Amino acid sequence: MAKLHVLGSGGPRPTMARFGSAHIVDVGGRKIMFDCGPAATYKMVQAGLHPLDIDYLFFTHHHFDHDVDYPCLLMTRWDESIGKENTLNVFGPNNTESITERLVGEDGAFAYDLNARQNHPLSKAMFELRGGTLPRPNMNVAAHDVGPGTVFTGNDFEVTAAPAEHVEPFHDSLAYRLDTEEGSIVFTGDTQPCEKVVDLARGADALVTMCGNFDSNLEKRGIAWGQTGTLGAAEVAAEAGVGEMFLVHVGPDLSSPEGRVKGIQEINEIYDGKVTMTDELQTYDWHAHVHASADVPADPEGRPHIHRH
Ligand SMILES: [Zn+2]
Repeated sequence: MAKLHVLGSGGPRPTMARFGSAHIVDVGGRKIMFDCGPAATYKMVQAGLHPLDIDYLFFTHHHFDHDVDYPCLLMTRWDESIGKENTLNVFGPNNTESITERLVGEDGAFAYDLNARQNHPLSKAMFELRGGTLPRPNMNVAAHDVGPGTVFTGNDFEVTAAPAEHVEPFHDSLAYRLDTEEGSIVFTGDTQPCEKVVDLARGADALVTMCGNFDSNLEKRGIAWGQTGTLGAAEVAAEAGVGEMFLVHVGPDLSSPEGRVKGIQEINEIYDGKVTMTDELQTYDWHAHVHASADVPADPEGRPHIHRH
């Protein structure tokens, strides 16, 4: 059974229960990471996973609540390795390559630490104790700036991106669809509801969607754009005909005991599939749904209307 590990299910404001975005999909034992927000590396270990499990990381965008633990993941994965790990392939919209270079490149912020750990006798001895053979190799990471379309095709999975609508033109945002033999799962990242994300998600088994607040609250506060609330998430899920929904990037209003119930009720008035409000450090099963072709609306006229702001 395919799994979804939710490491971060909140936004940029830290709360006791939630902070930032980070997810790992486990399909057939392969672990694929989407976003690397606050404390993702530590939460990964708390969830029983390890940085060396991760060979593929996809960034939806470069807001800090989605990427700030990237240096921690890079440094820990490198330090834990004994030179036998696979390349870490990192994909994301613009700035992914330059951020990587500015962190761990030759003149990067962490170059001094990489140099110290490769050359100080203590670090070298620790490396040998872990089973490594000197000299300590360089970090094995390949970063790729990518855009909409097929992003990566592997032996057992494919990742496709669509342009999300979030904070352009300051930086680009992508939604991703992961297709595997065990099913398809889509990550909206941060976006307002939009047709390109609906098209990407069409017929997917699981939709992991931003759901920051009740749309009524977003509208009251004048911030009902660039992000997705309950109604928008429900409309995207219904229009795309996805098998089930997982809510992430959940704000405090929705997170309260009453908010959870009311939020899911509001969503189920539009989308009649299963809705799970995720919590951090929880692992969820998801699976391929058998779609009757009538379940996936193909005719734009026949679809419910996307909630527009
Ligand atoms: Zn964002």
